[in-house]
Amino acid sequence: MFNPSRLRLARLRLGLTITKLAETSGVSLRSLTEYENGKREPSEENLTRLAGALFVAPHFFEREAIDPVPVEAASFRKLSKATATRRGAVLATAALTIEFFKTIENRFRLPDPSIPSFDKLSPEQAADLVRRQWNLGDRPISSMVHLLESKGVRLASLNHEYSDIDAFCFIQDGVPYVFLNTSKSGERQRFDAAHELGHLVLHGHLEMVPATSKSREAEANAFAANFLMPRSAVLAQSMNGAGIDRILAARSYWRTSAMAMTHRLRELQLLSDWQYRSTCITLSDRGYRRSEPDGIMPETSQLLRKVMYGSQSRVSAKDAATALDIHPGEIREYVRHLVPISAA
Ligand SMILES: [Zn+2]
Repeated sequence: MFNPSRLRLARLRLGLTITKLAETSGVSLRSLTEYENGKREPSEENLTRLAGALFVAPHFFEREAIDPVPVEAASFRKLSKATATRRGAVLATAALTIEFFKTIENRFRLPDPSIPSFDKLSPEQAADLVRRQWNLGDRPISSMVHLLESKGVRLASLNHEYSDIDAFCFIQDGVPYVFLNTSKSGERQRFDAAHELGHLVLHGHLEMVPATSKSREAEANAFAANFLMPRSAVLAQSMNGAGIDRILAARSYWRTSAMAMTHRLRELQLLSDWQYRSTCITLSDRGYRRSEPDGIMPETSQLLRKVMYGSQSRVSAKDAATALDIHPGEIREYVRHLVPISAA
């Protein structure tokens, strides 16, 4: 049984219009439209053509119905019109990534989701309370990825072709998903992970309407800064008027970017406006705006590594690809840089 929603999803995930797919597959525009509307089923020959053009196995189209993750559910940073197609591709891929995690759950018991919801608190209060509930004290978080995975978050990598979309998250059937841009520095990925945690804690049950996106972003950033660099602990470090060397030492301690550390000190009024500006200029001159000299290694996933490369009943990229009727290379995209390259 041919499933029209599968054809649509496979097309959207590549960012293709129907016209473009007609060109690349050699199937007429009219037929394609009828297939997607469920008016007609493709012939064997056209099915093979479509499978080839969309990089899926012909059986992919016979699987159960699937829809892209709804855009109102996802915490996108940029909501401009220009990225609508790209965002659509990311949301269609996210739906397949959910299927990937379900394949894993057929063989492994993954941690139950346990992300608290504090939609009535300020971002700072919420960050403090999450730290307290999770017994994290005032210490630096050693790994945001491991922490989130242990709390039942399913973490995947955003396709690097769409890295302008940036990290995002959503909750589906009570399970939180976070997609990280794993082409960024380790420090920035940590901040992104904390930012998405902020969305889950503060906005998990809201519709992500564009009208309030600016304030949501500011709140998630405030949550992230306070979660990674708690107010009381930073204040206890006597950083008043700190120079570059002290700031660099502090960012290594907290495992954040030098820019985020500087911003945090300004927020806590430990740097004057003038000190803040001149520090930013110096850091920028030394390359800290675009990258993170002498930074940390990006974090990797413990969960995916165990599940995909462990010895017992593992789900390899190939197994998962076979189970989902897609290409193993696509599975590797879902976990890119989250597991060792050699293993993937
Ligand atoms: Zn956000």
